[in-house]
Amino acid sequence: MSKYFPKILLNDMLKLRECHHRLWSVIYPVYVNRLIPFKIITGFRNEIEQNLCFHNGRSKKKWPESMHNKTIKLNDTGEIIPCSGAIDVAPTYANKNGVWVIDWESIPAFSYLAGMIMWQAKKAGIGLIWGGDWNNDGNLSDGWDFGHFELTEKEWNRSL
Ligand SMILES: [Zn+2]
Repeated sequence: MSKYFPKILLNDMLKLRECHHRLWSVIYPVYVNRLIPFKIITGFRNEIEQNLCFHNGRSKKKWPESMHNKTIKLNDTGEIIPCSGAIDVAPTYANKNGVWVIDWESIPAFSYLAGMIMWQAKKAGIGLIWGGDWNNDGNLSDGWDFGHFELTEKEWNRSL
């Protein structure tokens, strides 16, 4: 693998594993194509994590209202497992010392990545919402969460 791209990180894959399979099918191809490298920041959020995000203003929703809080119950064992309908990602690049960094203020980098992710969703026929344009009208003035993507309710509920 090129030294210019970070290795596919186990951490990212573990977070992706806690997401709904349709979210996986959108994010994974963009992740491995690495036209722009990115990190997976959050998949599933448990009750403590979600309420912390609410209190520090990173989320507008309390547990269990966020798409990050979705779970499913396994038929055979009755076990409840994460099945997040939302994911937070961040574009990353190697600085002059070769350290992979995230520029949280770079709306252009986040938007560049979002374009690829939304195009992948469109090609796959998957209903996806971007936090940089919640109503998907092309006007980004309603956007405030540029690394956030979530399945539509309908898409999350569509039979597995
Ligand atoms: Zn999010």
